[in-house]
Amino acid sequence: MAVAESLDELVRDIEDPELPHVTIGDLGIVRSVTIEAGTATVLLTPTYTGCPATEQIRDDVEVAVRSAGFEPDVRLVMSPAWTTDWITERGHERLRSAGIAPPPPASEPGVTFVDPPVACPRCNSRRTRLISHFGGTACKATYVCNACSEPFEFFKAL
Ligand SMILES: [Zn+2]
Repeated sequence: MAVAESLDELVRDIEDPELPHVTIGDLGIVRSVTIEAGTATVLLTPTYTGCPATEQIRDDVEVAVRSAGFEPDVRLVMSPAWTTDWITERGHERLRSAGIAPPPPASEPGVTFVDPPVACPRCNSRRTRLISHFGGTACKATYVCNACSEPFEFFKAL
């Protein structure tokens, strides 16, 4: 059991390729890690469809599982679909310290990524405006803060 737990931890500690210092455990995309007869089955739920990071994450998980001495069997689970509500509290903190505004609760009706205004992750001002719906990746939008005039990325709620 201890082996399964440490492998579970190893997998959850893999960093997201697009979000430095944010792990895939923080993003809540690791459904389960199970070991049977030397094979480790990892169930992942990808974030945004079409996020090119998914293939990279899959490769990283396979490498980590092999380094722990198991044969990897990584499977993508599409249902239920991932939502930004699965991002952990620690994930929110890490996004903020990476200069990315974390998503508001997706389950809260009426809350979209323009209303209420997104708070600047640097100075917390709500005097921000949307520059582009698509930031560095399709997963993020680019905003600029009117208070500190810094641009920042916003992780869209889903
Ligand atoms: Zn600011």
